[in-house]
Amino acid sequence: MNTHVTIIGAGLGGLTLARVLHVHGIPVTVYEAEASPTARTQGGMLDIHDYNGQLAIEAAGLMEEFRGIVLQGRQAMRILAPDGAVLLDKTDDGAGGRPEVQRGELRQILLDSLPAGTVRWGHKVTSVRSLGQGRHEVTFADGSTVGTSLLVGADGAWSRVRPLLSDATPEYVGMSYIETYLFDVETRHRAAAEAVGGGSMAAPAAGGKGIQAHREKGETIHTYVVLSEPQEWFAAIDFTDGPAAAARIAQEFDGWAPELTALITDGDVPPILRPIFALPLGHKWDRVPGVTLLGDAAHLLAPNGEGANMAMYDGAELGKALAAHPDDVEAALTEYETAMFPRSVEFGSIGAELHELDGDNAAEGLIKAFTEND
Ligand SMILES: Cc1cc2nc3c(=O)[nH]c(=O)nc-3n(C[C@H](O)[C@H](O)[C@H](O)COP(=O)(O)OP(=O)(O)OC[C@H]3O[C@@H](n4cnc5c(N)ncnc54)[C@H](O)[C@@H]3O)c2cc1C
Repeated sequence: MNTHVTIIGAGLGGLTLARVLHVHGIPVTVYEAEASPTARTQGGMLDIHDYNGQLAIEAAGLMEEFRGIVLQGRQAMRILAPDGAVLLDKTDDGAGGRPEVQRGELRQILLDSLPAGTVRWGHKVTSVRSLGQGRHEVTFADGSTVGTSLLVGADGAWSRVRPLLSDATPEYVGMSYIETYLFDVETRHRAAAEAVGGGSMAAPAAGGKGIQAHREKGETIHTYVVLSEPQEWFAAIDFTDGPAAAARIAQEFDGWAPELTALITDGDVPPILRPIFALPLGHKWDRVPGVTLLGDAAHLLAPNGEGANMAMYDGAELGKALAAHPDDVEAALTEYETAMFPRSVEFGSIGAELHELDGDNAAEGLIKAFTEND
Protein backbone atom coordinates (compact mmCIF):
# COMPACT_ATOMS: atom_id res chain seq x y z
CA MET A 1 0.00 0.00 0.00
CA ASN A 2 1.45 3.35 -1.03
CA THR A 3 -1.04 5.58 0.75
CA HIS A 4 0.70 7.39 3.59
CA VAL A 5 -1.53 7.23 6.66
CA THR A 6 -1.90 10.38 8.79
CA ILE A 7 -2.97 9.71 12.38
CA ILE A 8 -3.96 12.51 14.74
CA GLY A 9 -3.23 11.59 18.37
CA ALA A 10 -0.51 9.46 19.99
CA GLY A 11 -2.71 7.85 22.63
CA LEU A 12 -2.90 4.07 22.94
CA GLY A 13 -5.30 3.79 19.99
CA GLY A 14 -3.33 5.91 17.52
CA LEU A 15 -0.02 4.31 18.48
CA THR A 16 -1.40 0.77 18.14
CA LEU A 17 -2.60 1.63 14.64
CA ALA A 18 0.78 3.16 13.79
CA ARG A 19 2.60 0.07 15.02
CA VAL A 20 0.36 -2.41 13.14
CA LEU A 21 0.77 -0.35 9.95
CA HIS A 22 4.53 -0.31 10.48
CA VAL A 23 4.56 -4.10 10.93
CA HIS A 24 2.84 -4.35 7.53
CA GLY A 25 5.25 -1.91 5.91
CA ILE A 26 2.65 0.85 5.46
CA PRO A 27 4.04 4.39 5.82
CA VAL A 28 2.54 6.41 8.68
CA THR A 29 2.95 9.67 10.58
CA VAL A 30 1.34 10.47 13.92
CA TYR A 31 0.74 14.12 14.88
CA GLU A 32 0.44 14.68 18.63
CA ALA A 33 -0.47 17.89 20.46
CA GLU A 34 1.72 17.23 23.49
CA ALA A 35 5.25 18.56 23.31
CA SER A 36 6.97 15.27 24.21
CA PRO A 37 6.26 11.75 25.48
CA THR A 38 6.80 13.00 29.03
CA ALA A 39 4.78 16.22 28.77
CA ARG A 40 2.04 14.76 30.96
CA THR A 41 2.19 11.94 33.49
CA GLN A 42 0.38 8.99 31.99
CA GLY A 43 -1.05 8.06 35.38
CA GLY A 44 -3.24 5.13 36.04
CA MET A 45 -3.25 1.41 35.76
CA LEU A 46 -5.08 -0.40 33.02
CA ASP A 47 -6.22 -3.98 32.97
CA ILE A 48 -5.65 -5.29 29.48
CA HIS A 49 -8.24 -7.85 28.48
CA ASP A 50 -7.64 -11.13 26.66
CA TYR A 51 -10.66 -10.47 24.39
CA ASN A 52 -9.61 -7.05 23.03
CA GLY A 53 -6.53 -5.19 24.37
CA GLN A 54 -4.27 -8.24 24.38
CA LEU A 55 -5.36 -9.22 20.85
CA ALA A 56 -4.29 -5.76 19.71
CA ILE A 57 -0.89 -6.18 21.39
CA GLU A 58 -0.51 -9.51 19.64
CA ALA A 59 -1.32 -7.91 16.26
CA ALA A 60 1.32 -5.31 17.08
CA GLY A 61 3.86 -8.11 17.73
CA LEU A 62 4.57 -6.80 21.24
CA MET A 63 3.36 -9.61 23.50
CA GLU A 64 6.78 -10.29 24.98
CA GLU A 65 7.35 -6.63 25.82
CA PHE A 66 3.83 -6.51 27.29
CA ARG A 67 4.46 -9.50 29.57
CA GLY A 68 7.54 -7.70 30.83
CA ILE A 69 5.49 -4.82 32.25
CA VAL A 70 2.62 -6.79 33.80
CA LEU A 71 2.34 -6.04 37.51
CA GLN A 72 2.06 -9.38 39.25
CA GLY A 73 -0.69 -9.79 41.82
CA ARG A 74 -2.61 -6.68 40.80
CA GLN A 75 -5.67 -8.60 39.56
CA ALA A 76 -6.69 -9.04 43.20
CA MET A 77 -10.04 -7.39 43.85
CA ARG A 78 -11.90 -6.39 46.98
CA ILE A 79 -15.30 -4.91 47.58
CA LEU A 80 -15.83 -3.08 50.83
CA ALA A 81 -18.90 -1.72 52.59
CA PRO A 82 -18.83 1.94 53.65
CA ASP A 83 -18.00 0.84 57.19
CA GLY A 84 -14.90 -0.96 55.88
CA ALA A 85 -16.34 -4.49 56.13
CA VAL A 86 -14.86 -6.76 53.45
CA LEU A 87 -17.70 -8.06 51.26
CA LEU A 88 -15.52 -9.77 48.65
CA ASP A 89 -11.82 -10.52 48.61
CA LYS A 90 -10.54 -12.18 45.42
CA THR A 91 -6.86 -13.01 45.28
CA ASP A 92 -4.83 -12.90 42.08
CA ASP A 93 -4.08 -16.52 41.22
CA GLY A 94 -2.34 -15.53 38.00
CA ALA A 95 -5.07 -17.17 35.92
CA GLY A 96 -7.16 -14.06 35.25
CA GLY A 97 -7.44 -12.65 31.74
CA ARG A 98 -6.94 -9.03 32.79
CA PRO A 99 -3.33 -8.35 33.73
CA GLU A 100 -2.65 -4.86 35.01
CA VAL A 101 -0.01 -2.53 33.60
CA GLN A 102 0.89 1.12 34.03
CA ARG A 103 -0.56 3.12 31.14
CA GLY A 104 2.67 5.08 30.67
CA GLU A 105 4.75 1.90 30.33
CA LEU A 106 2.35 0.46 27.75
CA ARG A 107 2.49 3.68 25.76
CA GLN A 108 6.29 3.62 25.95
CA ILE A 109 6.44 0.09 24.52
CA LEU A 110 4.40 1.27 21.53
CA LEU A 111 6.55 4.40 21.10
CA ASP A 112 9.76 2.37 21.26
CA SER A 113 8.43 0.03 18.55
CA LEU A 114 8.10 2.82 15.97
CA PRO A 115 10.87 4.22 13.80
CA ALA A 116 12.27 7.53 15.08
CA GLY A 117 10.34 10.49 13.71
CA THR A 118 7.04 8.60 13.25
CA VAL A 119 5.45 10.69 16.01
CA ARG A 120 5.61 14.45 15.48
CA TRP A 121 5.28 15.94 18.96
CA GLY A 122 3.99 19.48 19.53
CA HIS A 123 1.57 19.32 16.59
CA LYS A 124 -1.80 20.40 17.92
CA VAL A 125 -4.48 20.17 15.24
CA THR A 126 -6.77 23.19 15.19
CA SER A 127 -8.90 22.34 12.16
CA VAL A 128 -9.33 19.93 9.28
CA ARG A 129 -11.06 20.46 5.96
CA SER A 130 -12.00 18.38 2.97
CA LEU A 131 -10.11 19.03 -0.27
CA GLY A 132 -12.46 16.68 -2.18
CA GLN A 133 -11.87 13.21 -3.60
CA GLY A 134 -10.99 11.76 -0.22
CA ARG A 135 -8.17 14.21 0.46
CA HIS A 136 -8.01 16.38 3.59
CA GLU A 137 -5.95 19.28 4.85
CA VAL A 138 -4.93 19.37 8.51
CA THR A 139 -4.02 22.72 10.10
CA PHE A 140 -1.85 22.91 13.23
CA ALA A 141 -1.73 25.56 15.96
CA ASP A 142 1.43 27.12 14.47
CA GLY A 143 -0.40 27.68 11.18
CA SER A 144 1.40 24.93 9.26
CA THR A 145 -0.65 22.44 7.24
CA VAL A 146 -0.37 18.94 5.85
CA GLY A 147 -2.41 17.25 3.13
CA THR A 148 -3.37 13.59 3.30
CA SER A 149 -5.42 11.02 1.43
CA LEU A 150 -6.00 8.90 4.54
CA LEU A 151 -6.74 10.70 7.80
CA VAL A 152 -7.45 8.87 11.09
CA GLY A 153 -8.78 10.77 14.09
CA ALA A 154 -7.33 9.06 17.17
CA ASP A 155 -7.45 12.34 19.06
CA GLY A 156 -9.68 11.35 21.93
CA ALA A 157 -12.78 12.86 23.51
CA TRP A 158 -12.56 16.31 21.94
CA SER A 159 -11.51 15.12 18.50
CA ARG A 160 -10.85 17.80 15.86
CA VAL A 161 -11.32 15.18 13.15
CA ARG A 162 -14.78 14.01 14.27
CA PRO A 163 -16.67 17.00 12.74
CA LEU A 164 -15.73 15.69 9.27
CA LEU A 165 -17.93 12.67 10.00
CA SER A 166 -20.50 13.56 12.61
CA ASP A 167 -22.16 16.44 14.48
CA ALA A 168 -22.06 14.56 17.78
CA THR A 169 -20.31 16.17 20.75
CA PRO A 170 -19.68 14.59 24.15
CA GLU A 171 -22.10 15.45 26.93
CA TYR A 172 -21.60 15.42 30.68
CA VAL A 173 -22.99 12.15 32.06
CA GLY A 174 -23.93 13.58 35.45
CA MET A 175 -20.98 12.08 37.26
CA SER A 176 -17.42 13.18 38.01
CA TYR A 177 -14.34 11.45 39.35
CA ILE A 178 -12.01 13.06 41.83
CA GLU A 179 -8.55 11.54 41.62
CA THR A 180 -6.16 11.30 44.55
CA TYR A 181 -2.75 9.71 45.03
CA LEU A 182 -1.22 8.35 48.21
CA PHE A 183 2.51 7.58 48.05
CA ASP A 184 4.70 5.29 50.18
CA VAL A 185 1.57 3.71 51.54
CA GLU A 186 3.27 0.90 53.45
CA THR A 187 5.01 3.39 55.68
CA ARG A 188 2.88 6.53 55.51
CA HIS A 189 -0.72 5.33 54.88
CA ARG A 190 -0.89 1.86 56.42
CA ALA A 191 -4.60 1.72 57.22
CA ALA A 192 -5.59 2.83 53.73
CA ALA A 193 -3.10 0.38 52.21
CA GLU A 194 -4.58 -2.46 54.18
CA ALA A 195 -8.11 -1.53 53.16
CA VAL A 196 -7.22 -1.43 49.45
CA GLY A 197 -5.21 -4.67 49.50
CA GLY A 198 -2.82 -5.74 46.78
CA GLY A 199 -4.91 -4.94 43.69
CA SER A 200 -8.09 -2.93 43.28
CA MET A 201 -10.80 -2.01 45.72
CA ALA A 202 -14.31 -0.70 45.21
CA ALA A 203 -16.60 0.67 47.89
CA PRO A 204 -19.89 1.56 46.19
CA ALA A 205 -22.87 3.16 47.85
CA ALA A 206 -26.36 4.39 47.13
CA GLY A 207 -26.75 7.72 45.36
CA GLY A 208 -24.31 6.96 42.54
CA LYS A 209 -21.26 7.50 44.69
CA GLY A 210 -18.34 5.40 45.71
CA ILE A 211 -14.61 5.06 46.15
CA GLN A 212 -12.46 2.98 43.80
CA ALA A 213 -8.75 2.54 44.34
CA HIS A 214 -5.86 0.63 42.78
CA ARG A 215 -2.50 -0.34 44.10
CA GLU A 216 -0.20 1.01 41.41
CA LYS A 217 3.43 0.20 40.78
CA GLY A 218 5.54 0.55 43.89
CA GLU A 219 3.75 1.78 46.96
CA THR A 220 1.26 4.14 45.34
CA ILE A 221 -2.50 4.07 45.73
CA HIS A 222 -4.47 5.84 43.03
CA THR A 223 -8.07 6.57 43.96
CA TYR A 224 -11.11 7.61 41.96
CA VAL A 225 -13.85 9.06 44.11
CA VAL A 226 -17.12 8.92 42.17
CA LEU A 227 -19.85 11.48 42.79
CA SER A 228 -23.06 11.91 40.80
CA GLU A 229 -23.57 15.66 40.94
CA PRO A 230 -24.12 18.34 38.29
CA GLN A 231 -21.10 20.28 37.07
CA GLU A 232 -22.28 23.41 38.94
CA TRP A 233 -21.98 21.50 42.21
CA PHE A 234 -18.29 20.86 41.52
CA ALA A 235 -17.78 24.41 40.25
CA ALA A 236 -18.60 25.68 43.75
CA ILE A 237 -15.54 23.83 45.12
CA ASP A 238 -12.16 25.54 44.84
CA PHE A 239 -9.89 22.78 43.55
CA THR A 240 -6.91 25.15 43.65
CA ASP A 241 -7.11 24.79 47.43
CA GLY A 242 -6.28 21.07 47.65
CA PRO A 243 -6.90 20.40 51.36
CA ALA A 244 -10.19 22.35 51.39
CA ALA A 245 -11.41 20.58 48.24
CA ALA A 246 -10.50 17.19 49.69
CA ALA A 247 -12.30 18.02 52.94
CA ARG A 248 -15.43 19.10 51.01
CA ILE A 249 -15.45 15.89 48.96
CA ALA A 250 -14.87 13.80 52.09
CA GLN A 251 -17.98 15.39 53.66
CA GLU A 252 -20.01 13.39 51.14
CA PHE A 253 -18.61 10.26 52.78
CA ASP A 254 -19.43 11.29 56.32
CA GLY A 255 -19.70 8.23 58.57
CA TRP A 256 -17.55 6.01 56.31
CA ALA A 257 -14.63 4.08 57.73
CA PRO A 258 -11.62 6.38 58.34
CA GLU A 259 -9.33 4.09 56.31
CA LEU A 260 -11.61 4.79 53.31
CA THR A 261 -12.03 8.53 53.80
CA ALA A 262 -8.24 8.72 54.25
CA LEU A 263 -8.02 7.92 50.53
CA ILE A 264 -9.65 11.35 49.98
CA THR A 265 -8.25 13.47 52.78
CA ASP A 266 -4.68 12.14 52.97
CA GLY A 267 -3.74 12.58 49.31
CA ASP A 268 -0.12 13.51 48.63
CA VAL A 269 -1.07 15.75 45.68
CA PRO A 270 -4.11 18.04 45.40
CA PRO A 271 -7.26 16.18 44.28
CA ILE A 272 -7.94 16.37 40.55
CA LEU A 273 -11.48 16.82 39.23
CA ARG A 274 -12.37 14.73 36.16
CA PRO A 275 -15.87 15.42 34.85
CA ILE A 276 -17.06 12.43 32.81
CA PHE A 277 -18.35 13.03 29.29
CA ALA A 278 -19.70 10.57 26.73
CA LEU A 279 -20.95 10.30 23.19
CA PRO A 280 -24.28 8.55 22.68
CA LEU A 281 -23.87 4.75 22.82
CA GLY A 282 -24.05 3.56 19.22
CA HIS A 283 -22.58 6.76 17.76
CA LYS A 284 -21.95 6.16 14.05
CA TRP A 285 -21.66 7.99 10.75
CA ASP A 286 -22.02 7.46 7.02
CA ARG A 287 -18.84 6.59 5.15
CA VAL A 288 -16.84 9.68 4.16
CA PRO A 289 -13.98 8.99 1.74
CA GLY A 290 -10.45 9.20 3.13
CA VAL A 291 -11.20 9.64 6.84
CA THR A 292 -12.23 7.61 9.89
CA LEU A 293 -12.04 7.64 13.70
CA LEU A 294 -10.96 5.23 16.40
CA GLY A 295 -11.05 4.95 20.17
CA ASP A 296 -12.58 7.74 22.24
CA ALA A 297 -12.87 9.96 19.15
CA ALA A 298 -15.34 7.39 17.78
CA HIS A 299 -17.09 6.09 20.89
CA LEU A 300 -16.22 7.98 24.10
CA LEU A 301 -18.13 6.46 27.00
CA ALA A 302 -18.14 6.77 30.78
CA PRO A 303 -15.24 4.64 32.08
CA ASN A 304 -16.17 0.95 32.24
CA GLY A 305 -12.69 -0.53 32.06
CA GLU A 306 -12.93 -1.03 28.29
CA GLY A 307 -12.03 2.35 26.74
CA ALA A 308 -8.28 1.91 26.32
CA ASN A 309 -8.75 -1.75 25.39
CA MET A 310 -11.27 -0.75 22.72
CA ALA A 311 -9.05 2.03 21.37
CA MET A 312 -6.15 -0.41 20.96
CA TYR A 313 -8.38 -3.04 19.40
CA ASP A 314 -9.77 -0.46 16.95
CA GLY A 315 -6.22 0.54 16.03
CA ALA A 316 -5.20 -3.07 15.38
CA GLU A 317 -8.35 -3.87 13.40
CA LEU A 318 -8.01 -0.77 11.23
CA GLY A 319 -4.34 -1.51 10.61
CA LYS A 320 -5.15 -5.09 9.60
CA ALA A 321 -7.99 -3.96 7.31
CA LEU A 322 -5.68 -1.49 5.53
CA ALA A 323 -3.03 -4.17 5.12
CA ALA A 324 -5.64 -6.58 3.72
CA HIS A 325 -6.83 -4.06 1.08
CA PRO A 326 -3.62 -2.43 -0.12
CA ASP A 327 -5.23 -1.05 -3.28
CA ASP A 328 -8.59 -0.07 -1.89
CA VAL A 329 -8.62 2.28 1.09
CA GLU A 330 -12.42 2.66 0.99
CA ALA A 331 -12.94 -1.12 1.16
CA ALA A 332 -10.65 -1.20 4.20
CA LEU A 333 -12.44 1.68 5.94
CA THR A 334 -15.85 0.13 5.20
CA GLU A 335 -14.75 -3.22 6.59
CA TYR A 336 -13.30 -1.57 9.71
CA GLU A 337 -16.33 0.64 10.42
CA THR A 338 -18.87 -2.12 9.70
CA ALA A 339 -17.32 -4.21 12.48
CA MET A 340 -16.41 -1.32 14.79
CA PHE A 341 -19.91 0.22 15.14
CA PRO A 342 -21.61 -2.86 16.65
CA ARG A 343 -18.44 -3.74 18.58
CA SER A 344 -18.38 -0.36 20.28
CA VAL A 345 -21.95 -0.96 21.47
CA GLU A 346 -21.10 -4.46 22.68
CA PHE A 347 -17.95 -3.48 24.59
CA GLY A 348 -19.43 -0.14 25.60
CA SER A 349 -22.34 -1.92 27.28
CA ILE A 350 -20.05 -4.06 29.42
CA GLY A 351 -20.38 -3.08 33.03
CA ALA A 352 -23.28 -0.71 32.33
CA GLU A 353 -24.78 -2.08 35.55
CA LEU A 354 -21.67 -0.88 37.40
CA HIS A 355 -22.70 2.68 36.68
CA GLU A 356 -26.08 2.07 38.23
CA LEU A 357 -24.73 2.45 41.72
CA ASP A 358 -27.75 4.42 42.77
CA GLY A 359 -29.60 1.49 44.24
CA ASP A 360 -29.00 0.19 47.74
CA ASN A 361 -27.82 -3.03 46.13
CA ALA A 362 -24.77 -1.34 44.59
CA ALA A 363 -22.31 -3.66 46.33
CA GLU A 364 -24.41 -6.73 45.48
CA GLY A 365 -24.33 -5.83 41.78
CA LEU A 366 -20.58 -5.42 41.86
CA ILE A 367 -20.01 -8.67 43.69
CA LYS A 368 -22.16 -10.46 41.12
CA ALA A 369 -20.18 -8.89 38.28
CA PHE A 370 -16.90 -10.04 39.78
CA THR A 371 -17.94 -13.55 40.74
CA GLU A 372 -20.22 -14.70 37.94
CA ASN A 373 -17.35 -16.02 35.82
CA ASP A 374 -15.83 -18.04 38.67
C1 LIG B 1 -10.85 8.47 34.89
C2 LIG B 1 -10.73 7.49 33.78
C3 LIG B 1 -10.37 6.17 34.04
C4 LIG B 1 -10.25 5.24 32.99
N1 LIG B 1 -9.90 3.96 33.28
C5 LIG B 1 -9.80 3.05 32.27
C6 LIG B 1 -9.43 1.69 32.53
O1 LIG B 1 -9.19 1.30 33.68
N2 LIG B 1 -9.35 0.84 31.48
C7 LIG B 1 -9.62 1.22 30.20
O2 LIG B 1 -9.53 0.38 29.26
N3 LIG B 1 -9.96 2.50 29.91
C8 LIG B 1 -10.05 3.42 30.91
N4 LIG B 1 -10.41 4.71 30.64
C9 LIG B 1 -10.70 5.09 29.25
C10 LIG B 1 -9.42 5.31 28.47
O3 LIG B 1 -8.59 6.22 29.17
C11 LIG B 1 -9.73 5.87 27.08
O4 LIG B 1 -10.81 5.20 26.50
C12 LIG B 1 -8.50 5.71 26.18
O5 LIG B 1 -7.42 6.47 26.66
C13 LIG B 1 -8.83 6.14 24.74
O6 LIG B 1 -7.67 6.05 23.97
P1 LIG B 1 -7.52 6.94 22.67
O7 LIG B 1 -6.21 6.56 22.07
O8 LIG B 1 -8.75 6.80 21.84
O9 LIG B 1 -7.53 8.44 23.17
P2 LIG B 1 -6.55 9.21 24.21
O10 LIG B 1 -5.90 8.27 25.15
O11 LIG B 1 -7.39 10.33 24.77
O12 LIG B 1 -5.44 9.81 23.26
C14 LIG B 1 -5.70 10.88 22.40
C15 LIG B 1 -4.40 11.55 22.06
O13 LIG B 1 -4.68 12.59 21.10
C16 LIG B 1 -4.01 13.76 21.49
N5 LIG B 1 -4.78 14.90 20.98
C17 LIG B 1 -5.97 15.36 21.44
N6 LIG B 1 -6.36 16.43 20.74
C18 LIG B 1 -5.40 16.65 19.80
C19 LIG B 1 -5.25 17.62 18.78
N7 LIG B 1 -6.15 18.60 18.60
N8 LIG B 1 -4.14 17.57 17.98
C20 LIG B 1 -3.20 16.58 18.16
N9 LIG B 1 -3.31 15.64 19.14
C21 LIG B 1 -4.40 15.67 19.94
C22 LIG B 1 -3.97 13.71 23.01
O14 LIG B 1 -2.95 14.53 23.54
C23 LIG B 1 -3.73 12.23 23.25
O15 LIG B 1 -2.36 11.91 23.28
C24 LIG B 1 -10.52 5.65 31.67
C25 LIG B 1 -10.89 6.98 31.41
C26 LIG B 1 -10.99 7.89 32.45
C27 LIG B 1 -11.42 9.30 32.14
